Amino acid sequence: CGVFGIWGHVEAANFSALGLHALQHRGQEAAGIVSFDRQQFHAHRGLGHVGDIFGSEEAMNSLKGRAAIGHNRYATTGDTVLRNVQPLFAELAFGGFALAHNGNLTNASTLRRELVQRGALFQSTMDTEVIIHLMAMRTEATVIERLVHALSRVEGAYSLVAICDDMVIGLRDPLGVRPLVIGRLPTEQAYVITSETCALDIIGAEFVRDVEPGELIILDKNGLTARQVFPKRPRRFCIFEHIYFARPDSIIEGRSIYDSRQKIGAELAKESPVDADVIIPVPDSGVPAALGYAQAAGIPFELGIIRNHYVGRTFIEPGQKIRDLGVKLKHNANRAKIEGKRVVLVDDSIVRGTTSRKIVQMVRAAGATEIHFRIAAPPTTDPCFYGVDTPDKDELLASNMDVAQMGAHIGVDSLAFISIDALYRAMGESGRDPVLPQYCDACFTGDYPTRLTDREDRVSPQPS
Ligand code: 5GP
Ligand code: SF4
Ligand code: MG
Repeated sequence: CGVFGIWGHVEAANFSALGLHALQHRGQEAAGIVSFDRQQFHAHRGLGHVGDIFGSEEAMNSLKGRAAIGHNRYATTGDTVLRNVQPLFAELAFGGFALAHNGNLTNASTLRRELVQRGALFQSTMDTEVIIHLMAMRTEATVIERLVHALSRVEGAYSLVAICDDMVIGLRDPLGVRPLVIGRLPTEQAYVITSETCALDIIGAEFVRDVEPGELIILDKNGLTARQVFPKRPRRFCIFEHIYFARPDSIIEGRSIYDSRQKIGAELAKESPVDADVIIPVPDSGVPAALGYAQAAGIPFELGIIRNHYVGRTFIEPGQKIRDLGVKLKHNANRAKIEGKRVVLVDDSIVRGTTSRKIVQMVRAAGATEIHFRIAAPPTTDPCFYGVDTPDKDELLASNMDVAQMGAHIGVDSLAFISIDALYRAMGESGRDPVLPQYCDACFTGDYPTRLTDREDRVSPQPS
């Protein structure tokens, strides 16, 4: 998901919509904005893309006020229905409160059962709603105290923005798994908190800094206040944001995403070279890595696959049938750059292998004499429980097959993934620290940085 929050600007709602538009890649199923005009909260939510939901003057005029938060939904828990569209809003004892969450909680079902027993009436099926109920059941006077207490009970990943009647709040989980950055509109002294720097660029805001893991940011009439509310722990930022999820023009934790991908491609070329005529990316996600590969290998880079930009990311549309259809809608081989050539195809990752298989068939049909597939991630062997919608383990190609079997299944002449240590080298590390890895890389290693209470509960049910 993508989140955005702004305080103290006449264009608060318009800027939120623009920010969400820049973050559209983080979630395309639904979006919402809640604004506050010193008297009332206003909300507008819808299913679909940001441009469709906030494209009318009527919608935008209804979102009055100089403070707003917004959210793009990428479903990891809960169905895509309007009651599951964030920001969530509740009237708590201290007043109105709206919350937008990027990430995923790993003990939400366990907490939800406990809260329901204590009388909570859930409105949605989202994990995020447990935070609201935990806050509702506290008795502290301030919204901050309630929020921090509520969050001290949750596990997992969360980058949050929230709004109440006198502030906008930003908060990042103690491991900083998902991104969150602070920006400032220089002339108006208005601050912004959002998922990625590309959402600052679109509104002309300057980057201030990343929100630290475990840090709470308050935007109010006093400007910006920061408080470390959870003890500082070694960060475990999601390495897959660098590989795939974030936009290449964003800068996260001091690193350009584009640069990371290019360096991953270069490491991949060093580790798994191949004698070939042309390097071709699987667009768009494979482009920077393919460029890095081509530059390091000294082999020409060509756009041998052309993507139709009017189709969303295939994997975000639920359902295998639509995914199968989506692949054909989305990519076409550029025969002029493929016919009679030995091709290196570069993509960011293999999940189910469905897309890859079709792409390879297409490139073969366009006349490639050899196809060597290079992947800018290690094999995806484990699901993500922190907000990236990977399928169950048994649907992950790499959890069922070794590399040779995967290569045969996809139909390539050779297949190679970047090794975990080369991936860390591309990130500027000397390698992966096995004791305290510098990133979350659980989908490639099975080494989850938090407890997975909901899963443990499922595996070993408590005696009743
Ligand atoms: P596959 O060949 O596994 O069907 O699809 C691989 C493509 O899916 C890659 O091009 C990649 O961009 C995209 N992808 C990346 N991350 C994810 C993810 O978390 N889940 C799914 N389902 N696809 C992803
Ligand atoms: Fe990122 Fe993978 Fe960790 Fe999920 S499991 S947070 S996708 S590195
Ligand atoms: Mg892709």
